[in-house]
Amino acid sequence: MNTKKIVVVGGGPSGIMAAIRAAQLNQDVTLIEKNSLLGTKLLLSGKGRCNLTNTSGPELFLARFSKNGQFLRDAFKIFFNLDLLKFFQERGLKLKSERQKRVFPVTDKSSSILSVLKKELIKNKVKIIYKTTLKDIFVQNRKIKGILSGHGTTILCERLILATGGVTYAFTGSSGEGLEISKRLGHKITGLKPGLVPFETRQKYPKNLKNLMLKNIQLKFSDGQRQIVSDIGELLFTDFGISGALVLSLSGRIVDWLDEDKQVCVEIDLKPALSKEQINGRLLREFNQDSRAKIKKVLKSMLPIAMISTFLEIAKIDSNKSVSQITQLERRNLVSLFKALRLDILRSRPIDQAMITRGGVSLKDVNPRTMESRLIKGLYFSGEMLDLDADTGGFNLQAAFSTGYLAGESASLN
Ligand SMILES: Cc1cc2nc3c(=O)[nH]c(=O)nc-3n(C[C@H](O)[C@H](O)[C@H](O)COP(=O)(O)OP(=O)(O)OC[C@H]3O[C@@H](n4cnc5c(N)ncnc54)[C@H](O)[C@@H]3O)c2cc1C
Repeated sequence: MNTKKIVVVGGGPSGIMAAIRAAQLNQDVTLIEKNSLLGTKLLLSGKGRCNLTNTSGPELFLARFSKNGQFLRDAFKIFFNLDLLKFFQERGLKLKSERQKRVFPVTDKSSSILSVLKKELIKNKVKIIYKTTLKDIFVQNRKIKGILSGHGTTILCERLILATGGVTYAFTGSSGEGLEISKRLGHKITGLKPGLVPFETRQKYPKNLKNLMLKNIQLKFSDGQRQIVSDIGELLFTDFGISGALVLSLSGRIVDWLDEDKQVCVEIDLKPALSKEQINGRLLREFNQDSRAKIKKVLKSMLPIAMISTFLEIAKIDSNKSVSQITQLERRNLVSLFKALRLDILRSRPIDQAMITRGGVSLKDVNPRTMESRLIKGLYFSGEMLDLDADTGGFNLQAAFSTGYLAGESASLN
């Protein structure tokens, strides 16, 4: 096999894996990164712990992508979750599986993941050029010729792998230039939207509950009449509204709905396992135990303490009232609030605050067997810049690693 000159642009997980794979196959590989460090977003991932993959089987795994997951079948055949685990374990990194099959390094530090990747780049003699931004791509007769860097330098190459990421958390370097340039070359870029994103609410009470996490609650998003989506999980109150694992997971559907200028509200069912009758019975029992007890004390057995005064404010009940003073109507009101604490959704947080970009290089323009552009020979795409996005749980990083590996391999072998 002839040694080819391969340039990889983007030193995130996808570009690093592409560079490693091409270098393992004895190619002459140069990795170009605009920052002075590799993997800035990777370091932030999983709240600094890096949920690098998920050990679900292929079908469940693909089902966690918002759409287009099927595109990944070929990449996953070549390099999937167990291959990724092996890659790190063979290089001495211990990994652990947590709830919902999420995999993390035992150190709980994403820097451990980056450190293995950096060592592997060095071992395989990948040339790394830092502080260099891709500005343009040279193409002749629909074939890759090279790139122009921000310093005005031309770097010639036979294969180019673009792995410049999406447009969220732009301060990490993923600010969308790769997408712009791909568009100039004729690739369709599907609408960029925030994925895995929190929401701002009309009501201000979430601010009083800031940092309070509710577990095992049910969220029912609707337009006031028709249900959009509903599920059970965790909710986090923030100073602007709501976030947390469940909100992020369901956010894609809600963003699409809001985009169509439709109204959206969410009802929080604080006791999904109990019917209204059961909650009413429980309140009555508590009230009967001590009729002089204050309502704020009695609710301690049913709500997080931090939530009680806000809950009573919403119910318009004086928290110092004794339970004997609570009217039937007030009790009914409390029961209703337990089952449906309502918030009107104003908007999602801006795309820069989303964990993932929805949309990107249209998959119609990319061959899933090789990651090569269908428009320009020798140009490959990998990672978040592709129109692929998934739920939280390690799915997005696996997609970045798998598509990077496949792009590196096909750029070397084809
Ligand atoms: C806060 C946060 C937490 C996350 N946690 C997880 C998690 O735990 N598990 C999970 O699976 N996913 C997680 N994700 C998503 C995951 O981090 C991304 O999907 C992944 O980093 C994408 O990898 P990538 O290599 O495609 O792009 P990126 O990681 O964005 O890397 C792109 C690189 O390209 C460089 N670049 C961009 N433009 C240019 C240019 N013009 N010239 C040169 N270089 C350029 C950038 O500087 C950057 O280094 C998280 C995301 C965020 C924001």
